[in-house]
Amino acid sequence: MDQKARAERFRNQIQNNNEQQEEQYERELKRAREERIKRRIERMRRERQRMLRRRLFVGGVGIAVIVLLIFVGKKVFFSNPNDSNLGGHTSGDQTETTAPVETTEEHVKKNIPIPTWVDQQLLEINEFSRPGIPLKAVNNVVIHWVANAGTSAQNNRSYFSNLADPAANPDGVKASSHFVVGLEGEIIQCVPIDEKSYCTNWRNDDTISIEVCHPDWDGKFNDITYQSVIKLTAWLLEQFDLTSDDIIRHFDVTGKDCPKYYVVHEDAWEQLKQDVKVYMEANPNIQ
Ligand SMILES: [Zn+2]
Repeated sequence: MDQKARAERFRNQIQNNNEQQEEQYERELKRAREERIKRRIERMRRERQRMLRRRLFVGGVGIAVIVLLIFVGKKVFFSNPNDSNLGGHTSGDQTETTAPVETTEEHVKKNIPIPTWVDQQLLEINEFSRPGIPLKAVNNVVIHWVANAGTSAQNNRSYFSNLADPAANPDGVKASSHFVVGLEGEIIQCVPIDEKSYCTNWRNDDTISIEVCHPDWDGKFNDITYQSVIKLTAWLLEQFDLTSDDIIRHFDVTGKDCPKYYVVHEDAWEQLKQDVKVYMEANPNIQ
């Protein structure tokens, strides 16, 4: 090989080397760029996940706070009895937040004939005192006082009736009872016994309520009123196959002083239940 050819080969070799190095460099560059992009994507993905988790957490806390506020608001708003008006102790007794109602359908009998000694003055169906909702069951008979000394059964029935009038009931108070027993022993029925009344908070769905008038603020029922309460309660228990153990006070549901005298005097309450029991035994078919 002559010198010229050798020089030529040498030049070619150098050129080849240069090209190879350049390619190598390009490849490295490309790889580095891809690597960087991959890392950036990974970082963005992680950031997004973090943000999502934070949003979920904040959202969850927000919802929990809102639910809590609604719950507390409702409790404060509805559990404020307004004692200034007739039958006032029942104001707000529509609160039914928790309803542990044991449904025993066989207890709700329809078309039970009402005795002649009951003065039926059923309220018109309305949102505030006679919602027209069927009872789920009748598991107890609940005794209340009207919490307004000297008022008659008719006065208290009118109070319930007037709640339907928005002008007379701007606060939207809900209250009623199935029966009101008056100072002369009269018994007025306001709500049918297969429908719900607004008297006993979360037990409105499975109880029959009796409000009782009283001459004084100690809440003791007078004799003639007491006798009517015994008779009416005994009749109701018999209709729904219940016993004198199933008579309860509003107090036994909410801890409220109702019926006041029979909360303060536990012995008088036990006596009342005993009197109902004796009455039922002596009168097996109350008409
Ligand atoms: Zn009550």
